[in-house]
Amino acid sequence: MLNDFLHPASRQVPFWHGYMGSPSVKDIIESVGVPHVEVALILVNGVIVPFDFHPENGDRISCYSRFHSINIGSINLLQDLPSDPRFILDVHLGKLAKYMRIMGFDTLYQTNFTDSEILRIASDECRIILTRDLGILRNGLAKWGYYIRSTMPRLQLIEVMDAFSLREKSNPFSRCSICNGLVEIVSKEQIIKDLNTSTIRYYKDFFRCQSCGQIYWEGSHYKKIEKFIDENLNGERKTNHEE
Ligand SMILES: [Zn+2]
Repeated sequence: MLNDFLHPASRQVPFWHGYMGSPSVKDIIESVGVPHVEVALILVNGVIVPFDFHPENGDRISCYSRFHSINIGSINLLQDLPSDPRFILDVHLGKLAKYMRIMGFDTLYQTNFTDSEILRIASDECRIILTRDLGILRNGLAKWGYYIRSTMPRLQLIEVMDAFSLREKSNPFSRCSICNGLVEIVSKEQIIKDLNTSTIRYYKDFFRCQSCGQIYWEGSHYKKIEKFIDENLNGERKTNHEE
């Protein structure tokens, strides 16, 4: 997957890369286009090295993605991912944020987040940054992150679920798609004043976001979302536009 960031002529083949001074191996890797957050393992002349290792002229650098399965036995990876991943998305990924919340993943998203706010919150709350902006991922403050390849929200969701092995961690309908708050069951009596009479008459199960108070029920839209969840959990690949 790291080949996605290289010029086509440089993919899957050894190539020479020149540089000035004595940069770290992290800086060299990023100078050819690969964001350090997607790197799990670096070898220099076959020996595992940390990001701050300084290679010498003629050294051979091999670089492996954390999002591609490799048999590495008990080797410690660079910056291991959190076992219970939480996410923060950049301002261009609103639809993906909504889809991830429907699947039950803890997903922070606000249209007014600046890049520096995203980096700070990700660091403070141990969140993984999802973005189509390589600039954020190349920032030294970025610890965990993933560059979203697709431009289509449905495919972006599948991409993220595959990259972070999220299918078994999903908990659909547990989060509010509007604000990321946790959703709880409420009795009809608790919310009767907030709904119109036909909704009260036809539906019996109601849920409420503990953060923003949004009320949910199993209306006609519910079946559509159930189908959406089922398709994503079963890995059906959507290639058409129906966003
Ligand atoms: Zn909410």
